[in-house]
Amino acid sequence: MVKREIIEKILENCDIVELINSYLPLKKVGQYYRTLCPFHHDTKPSFYVNPSQQLFHCFGCKESGNAIHFIMKYEKMEFLEAVKFLAERAGISLKEEREDKKNQGIYEVVEFACNFYHEQLFIYPQALNYLTEKRRLSLATIKEFQLGYAPPGNLLIKVLKKRGYPEELLIESGVAYKKEGEIQEWFFNRIIFPIFNRRGKVIGFGGRVFEEEIEPKYLNSPETLIFKKGENLYGFYQTSNFLTKNKPILVEGYFDLLSLFDKGIKNLAAPLGTGFTIEQAKLLKKYCEEVIILFDGDNAGREATKRVIEIALKASLNPLIALLPDGYDPDKYVNEKGAEELKKIINTPYDLIDFHLKISTPQTISEKRNVLKQLLETINFTCDSALKELYLNKISETFNISKKQVLRAIEKDYFIFKDIEFSTLLRDLEFTILNVLINYPKYIVFIEEYNKQIFSEEIKEAMEIIKEFKDKEKITVGLIFEAVKNPTLKKRLSLISFLPQELIKGIKEEDFKELLNKYLYNYYLKKCTSGEIDENTLGKIYEIKRKLIKGEK
Ligand SMILES: [Zn+2]
Repeated sequence: MVKREIIEKILENCDIVELINSYLPLKKVGQYYRTLCPFHHDTKPSFYVNPSQQLFHCFGCKESGNAIHFIMKYEKMEFLEAVKFLAERAGISLKEEREDKKNQGIYEVVEFACNFYHEQLFIYPQALNYLTEKRRLSLATIKEFQLGYAPPGNLLIKVLKKRGYPEELLIESGVAYKKEGEIQEWFFNRIIFPIFNRRGKVIGFGGRVFEEEIEPKYLNSPETLIFKKGENLYGFYQTSNFLTKNKPILVEGYFDLLSLFDKGIKNLAAPLGTGFTIEQAKLLKKYCEEVIILFDGDNAGREATKRVIEIALKASLNPLIALLPDGYDPDKYVNEKGAEELKKIINTPYDLIDFHLKISTPQTISEKRNVLKQLLETINFTCDSALKELYLNKISETFNISKKQVLRAIEKDYFIFKDIEFSTLLRDLEFTILNVLINYPKYIVFIEEYNKQIFSEEIKEAMEIIKEFKDKEKITVGLIFEAVKNPTLKKRLSLISFLPQELIKGIKEEDFKELLNKYLYNYYLKKCTSGEIDENTLGKIYEIKRKLIKGEK
C-alpha cells in the first residue's frame, strides 16, 4: 500500500501537461491543450488536457483521468506500477529505505539464480537434450526464455552463500527453504522456466521434472515480496509486443507456449501452472478485447476451457475457442502437423455458444434445455451489456426461441444493470454544487447540516472525499481522482473540469447556500411528482420556497 500523502505528493509534483507532452505533441488551445487521442482511432483531435485541474479527457472515447491514469492506460501498467513510475520520475521515494533494500536483495538473488540455472543447462547434457530433442526447442528460444536446469546437491546455495548472501534472504527469495533446521534448495533436478515481470526482471520460477514418474510434475517458486502468481502471465515479457496486432492465444502450459513461440506463433500467454485468474484476464484485457483459448483436446482441457470462458467474461474479454482434435495438445499438434495447420485451427475459432453446442451436441429437448441453461449462466458472468446482448440474440436464433423467452429465463439477473433514473435538473444542480466544492472545499461544512439521503450516491461519495481535503485552499480534480471509486462519478468529475470556471470564481457563502436551497426545493418537488406527497414534504417545500423568495439564506 502506498500512503495517500505520497500519492498526493506525486500528483502535486508531476505536471500532467509536461508528462503527456513527453508522449504526445500537445497544442495549446485557449486554456487547454489538445492532441489526437491515443486510446481510440481519433481524427479530430478530441483529447484535451486541463492544466488547472491536472486532468485529461477525451471527448471521443470518454477516457479520462489524472497523471496516474494516463500512465496506467498508456504504459499498460497496474496502479502501483504507475505510481512507482511517476514517483521515480519525480524523484520521490515510495517506501522506507529498509523495505526497498530487501526487495532489491530478492531481485538480485533471483537474477543470480536465473543465470546459474541457465549455465547449468549447458553442463548437463541430459537436461539440454530433453529440451532440444524431446521438446524440439531451438537454442534461440531456450536463450530468449532463459530456460535452465536446477541440478541436485544444493550447489546454488553454496555459491550464493560464498557471495555473501545471508540464508534468510535466500529463503525470502524463494530459491531455498528450511527443512528440519537445514537449508535446502527449492528446485533440484528440474527444468527451470524463469518468470519475468513486464519490465523484464526475473521474479520467480516454474520447474518441471523430466522423468515422468516424479511428482509433482510442475512446481512453482513460493510467493515472495516480488512474485505474486495470480498477477503475472508466463512469457508475457517476451510475447506482449505481439499481442497488440493479433489476439492473444491462451495456452495451458509452459511447453505449449514455448513450442508455439519457437514455430513462429508468438501472440501467446499462459497462466503460471495454476488456474487462469481474473487478474491475469484483466492484464490481457489491456491489450485486446478478445482472447483465443487453445487448450488440450481432451475432457480435462475442455472443462478447463469452460472455466477460462467464465473468467474471461468477468473481465469483459470475449472468449473465442480454438478446438484441437481429440488426444492433441498444442505442443504435440504443432510438432506433428506444423505451424500452418495449427494456424488454420486458431484462425477459425468458435464463439462460446458454438463451442458449447460442438462439445455437447444436444439432440433431445432435455439435452437442448440443459445446454441453454448452461449458456445463460455463462453469459451472465459478463457485465459488458453489449456483449451480453449479442450473445442473447445469438442464443435466440440458435435455439429458435423468442428473445423475450430467453430474457424471461434470466430476468432476475438481467435487470440489475438497468440505470437508475434521476431527473436532469437535480443532476445539473448536483453537478454545480460539486463544481463549487472543488474550488472551495471549505464550503463542505454547509452541506454537512443537511440530511445526506437527499443526495445521489455519487455526490455522497464525492463529499466524503472532499471532506478530507477541506483544509486545502483549492483542490484539483486530478488530485482527488484517486480516491473516487464510482466510475460514473469519475466521468462527471472529469467533465466538471472542462466547464467554464468563470461563474464559479468568487462565489460567496450566501450564493452557495442558495444553490443548496434550490437543490433541496427541486428534490422535494420531485418527490411529490413521484407520488410521495406527505405533509412533511409539503411543509419543507413551502419553507424553502419562502427562503428563496425572500432571499433569506
Ligand atoms: Zn479517445
